[in-house]
Amino acid sequence: MKYSVVIPAYNEQEVLPLSYQRLKAVMDTLGDDYELIFVNDGSRDGTLDLLKEMAAKDGHVRVISFSRNFGHQEAVSAGMAHASGQAVIIIDCDLQDPPELIPDMVKKWEAGADIVYGLRVRREGETVFKKLTAWAYYRILRALGGQYIPANTGDFRLIDRKVCDTLNAMPERNRFLRGMAAWSGFKAEPIEFVREERAAGQTKYSLKKMLKLAGDGIASFSNRPLKAPMAIGIALTVLAFVYLVLAAVFAGIGIWDIVHVLFALVFCFIGALFISLGIFGLYLGRIYDEVKGRPIYIIDEKINF
Ligand code: UDP
Ligand code: MG
Repeated sequence: MKYSVVIPAYNEQEVLPLSYQRLKAVMDTLGDDYELIFVNDGSRDGTLDLLKEMAAKDGHVRVISFSRNFGHQEAVSAGMAHASGQAVIIIDCDLQDPPELIPDMVKKWEAGADIVYGLRVRREGETVFKKLTAWAYYRILRALGGQYIPANTGDFRLIDRKVCDTLNAMPERNRFLRGMAAWSGFKAEPIEFVREERAAGQTKYSLKKMLKLAGDGIASFSNRPLKAPMAIGIALTVLAFVYLVLAAVFAGIGIWDIVHVLFALVFCFIGALFISLGIFGLYLGRIYDEVKGRPIYIIDEKINF
């Protein structure tokens, strides 16, 4: 019996020693073998050196180091691909996901759940902007077809070996792991927790990375935006027709009124056209990524494997 813990780390030198201590303390209480797989996602600070020191002292620590920064989902994917435990736990390294919750997750797993995911009942120390966008995003995602993706969850979860194998076998490049796990349909159970503030350091998720993750979430689980131009087109055509009829009936209003309305309509059409083009571009870019078939990440170094 063995547990694998996957911990992505990007420029986390401030928090790493503390999160290692807390993780180790918790895993030692479980009484089974375990491995702590740290994935260094191209950090430019002392993260890799710290990980090397830890790996030299503690055989439980394994390190995968990327050649550059590939992103959080990619780092977690690499850790999952190297995990050999019967249960795999995915946890952030900033202690916003409390390691002390792991034993409760294990209990639910032993009771038959294949996925035990952390459900954030409250978020501490996060900006109103982040809370609000997260709230709105999950509603949009679900409305667009990701019904099975639970709101207020992150990647903090325990997954059974078979779930890990299933996700590892999904070849998509733009990875939205929490959605993929939910999509798999395996028996999932929530476990509530309060999302604390970061123990140290700053968020490593820039707005750009956040937007990419949000886009991946929608584009990998819904084709509906692709069909939106059709609805917009039909609506606009009907509108234009109605306008034509009205203009004919009320013929006689001043020429400038008509010019203004025409102007407004033309801009409206052009706007709708460009939005549609943009949506196509979004999906096309993703198809291009998939077709290129490049690896999801590149490993520079592995330690203790
Ligand atoms: N992370 C990563 N690569 C990145 C960005 C983040 O591996 O490009 C890691 C980071 O070290 C942390 C986890 O992903 O362990 C979550 O990041 P963060 O805490 O910065 O995100 P937030 O909690 O603010 O959404
Ligand atoms: Mg965090």
